[in-house]
Amino acid sequence: MRPEILYPLFTDTQSLPGVGARVAQSLEKITGNRILDLLWHLPVDVIDRRNTPALKDILFDQVVTVEVTVGKHDPAPAKSRKPYRVWCHDDTGQMQLVFFHPRRDYIQRQLPEGEKRLISGKIEIFNGALQMSHPEYMVTPDKKDEIPPIEPIYPLTAGISAKVMAKIMKEAVKKAVELPEWIDETLLAREGWPAWYPSLMGCHNPENKNDTEINTSAHLRLAYDEILANQLALEIMRRQVKKKKGRPLENKGFLTNVVIEKLPYALTDAQSRSIKEIMADMAESSAMMRLLQGDVGSGKTVVALIAMLVAVENETQAAILAPTEILARQHYESLTEMASGVDVNIAILTGRDKGKAREKILADLASGEIDILIGTHAIFQKDVIYHDLAMAVIDEQHRFGVEQRMMLAAKGKQGISMDVLAMTATPIPRTLTLTVYGDMDVSRLDQKPPGRTPVDTRVMALNRIDEVVSAANRAIQTGARLYWVCPLVEESEVIDLAAAEERFRHLTQVFGDRVGMVHGKMKAAEKDDVMQKFASGDLDILVATTVIEVGVNVPEATVMIIEHAERFGLSQLHQLRGRVGRGADKSTCLLLYGNLLGEVAKSRLNIMRETEDGFVIAEEDLKLRGAGEVLGTRQSGLPKFRVASMEDHHHLIPMARDDARLILEKDADLSSERGKALRTLLYLFERDEGVKYLKSG
Ligand code: ADP
Ligand code: MG
Repeated sequence: MRPEILYPLFTDTQSLPGVGARVAQSLEKITGNRILDLLWHLPVDVIDRRNTPALKDILFDQVVTVEVTVGKHDPAPAKSRKPYRVWCHDDTGQMQLVFFHPRRDYIQRQLPEGEKRLISGKIEIFNGALQMSHPEYMVTPDKKDEIPPIEPIYPLTAGISAKVMAKIMKEAVKKAVELPEWIDETLLAREGWPAWYPSLMGCHNPENKNDTEINTSAHLRLAYDEILANQLALEIMRRQVKKKKGRPLENKGFLTNVVIEKLPYALTDAQSRSIKEIMADMAESSAMMRLLQGDVGSGKTVVALIAMLVAVENETQAAILAPTEILARQHYESLTEMASGVDVNIAILTGRDKGKAREKILADLASGEIDILIGTHAIFQKDVIYHDLAMAVIDEQHRFGVEQRMMLAAKGKQGISMDVLAMTATPIPRTLTLTVYGDMDVSRLDQKPPGRTPVDTRVMALNRIDEVVSAANRAIQTGARLYWVCPLVEESEVIDLAAAEERFRHLTQVFGDRVGMVHGKMKAAEKDDVMQKFASGDLDILVATTVIEVGVNVPEATVMIIEHAERFGLSQLHQLRGRVGRGADKSTCLLLYGNLLGEVAKSRLNIMRETEDGFVIAEEDLKLRGAGEVLGTRQSGLPKFRVASMEDHHHLIPMARDDARLILEKDADLSSERGKALRTLLYLFERDEGVKYLKSG
């Protein structure tokens, strides 16, 4: 249960003075609908009103507070579009206040001619004269204190003015309370970080622009809090799984060694290392939870097979879950081929298997006849019963939700947790791996099998499309197949689709019925169908929005054309490029950019030309763009961070990871004084899903 001390923070924003339903709705769009959400909404700049120059000394546009005497009013004629002007002066010069569509009586009341006023706002120099439109403060000199010397500037949203936002935030910040310290004292002292409350106050009450920077000690403290909460939550989950009884599965070698021996190639060092790590995990009596991270083409399949064979050597079953039918079939083909020299029964089950065929598979699965099952979500449906499933491989694991993984894991023997090997081809920076997959151990295939010809990558302007089409034509004449990717251009899928369809029509005019198209709005079966045609050579060109299935293997495809490449994240481009360069023939990737290519976009595309190493690309991507984009929002799986920024604070992640492990080693149920404070931290950042596994403190 959420600690009482946090209740006020989890209260609706509408409980704040000045926040009604309409404002709350606008707030929800940028932050959320609770006071807590407002607290995470930090100022990005300040307005300094301490500058009080004489009028003659103002030489350029700036925010000032001036003491002036009100002069003549120059109200525009009614219905005119001209503004209402009020002359003001001090001993040194004069200025004009400008109001568009004002309430006249209000202006007249506020600014009686001949009286002194303190006015604060932004002065502009217009045609050599000083003017200020819509001053933010107009007060009599005795009410000087109503003008704040320094005001934080918050990011805004439609429907809320800067002034209203500042007022709301002021009220929200009042609700913040001191919380018990959860960070280790030595760490605090070493880093020079303030406590939680002063940090939050420091961020919300900046005294200058520097105070709003993301690397002040107050910001770092809050970022660390959030990252620590993330790491702690992952570590709790991890310990939870490890605590349950697993089953030791020893590598006996009578299948694994034979298969490795028979491979037409030698394993790379990275593959051997990963296999060793996996075998060590499987031999343990606690369950394996390992992520195999490796670029497209790095050879994950054989590693998965060896791991599954260990399970089979122990007279248990293994299963591999693929996100699509077509991927399942490709796995089936390559696994049966690799395992052809040993006596292992491999079967496939997908949504397409119906009736008698399906019944036979289910029967063989239940009797233990089948050793390894490959398939889509069909393999964990309710009526699918395994004889003794002890090991599961999840391919392209980010494509599956937690529930789906749980459903598969639940197919094992009751009360025993299953060994799980998750695989992903999305290379992400090491530090980010910790935030996404921190509950798993990680093996990395950071080395490609030898003998690949690098993909010739070129960057070209999109207005040379006619040349591109001719080049495509020549390539097809020599038997090449090519992918043509149209980007998500707009927020709206409908518009994107229209762009892709347009290109499809254009290419069909040139290449006739040798062109196919796949997009996100198609049914899975339809998509598979078109892709199958492309794979078998019935189509030469596959036009696609970004849905090209990760992992699809068409070795004959040697050309990848990406329109508006500048709109993609680097990692996405890398994934797309990974579709080609899979066969013996030399492959080409054309990155077509639109007219206005900025500096960052240019350096990003150049990185693509310089390297094919997914991990290097991911690190560069992180430097150049936000973390959400590193992964591509669609397939991210990256948890949401409110205060921490993955670009600027990732150095805190390994620190928090070690911290979290140490904490739980010493205090597994978070029952000490600090442990209780840490529970509060978990609730504060809403990472409390694991707290229920702890003994109540
Ligand atoms: P991934 O699933 O990681 O994208 P795959 O397992 O499909 O990659 O392997 C890609 C290709 O590389 C396959 O054709 C496979 O046979 C081949 N391959 C795998 N390991 C090696 C190796 N050590 N040496 C040479 N080729 C390999
Ligand atoms: Mg694969």
